[in-house]
Amino acid sequence: MSDELKPCPFQGDGEEHHVRFVEWKPGYGQIECADCHFCIPGEAFVTRDEAVRRWNARAERTCEWHPVLNDENFATGCDTVVLWEPPTPPHCPYCGGRVKIVDPLERTCRMSHVLLYDEEGIEGIECDECGWSDIHPWDEPLPERCPGCKAKVVE
Ligand SMILES: [Zn+2]
Ligand SMILES: [Zn+2]
Ligand SMILES: [Zn+2]
Repeated sequence: MSDELKPCPFQGDGEEHHVRFVEWKPGYGQIECADCHFCIPGEAFVTRDEAVRRWNARAERTCEWHPVLNDENFATGCDTVVLWEPPTPPHCPYCGGRVKIVDPLERTCRMSHVLLYDEEGIEGIECDECGWSDIHPWDEPLPERCPGCKAKVVE
């Protein structure tokens, strides 16, 4: 059975991680790595065939990481922000997908005019992409790049 499975994404060069189906209740379970305990999150009760299919599909997927705030924080394609000192890992620890770093210089975001601190209504701007916001008079020019996600600000 195990020879149908793609290798564990966290298996290093020259290592062998043993990936197998773990049955949690009769007929249902998940694929898990016996060596590093990686498994696809949120997936504890699928049939063996389905688990194998998903595990192997996972090996094909990529997870896009966007640098945020600085070069050691990344918003992952898994909706989590991770702190990771470069070099970034080849595989996402959440989904096991291949990590693809998206160059912020190639991305764009929009700034919305928002009123900060509700009642006081101080003029500010907010990034539609990363949610960064700060006080910013609306008649002043927008920053060239978002200080949060570093994407190029477009009108
Ligand atoms: Zn492993
Ligand atoms: Zn991921
Ligand atoms: Zn942003």
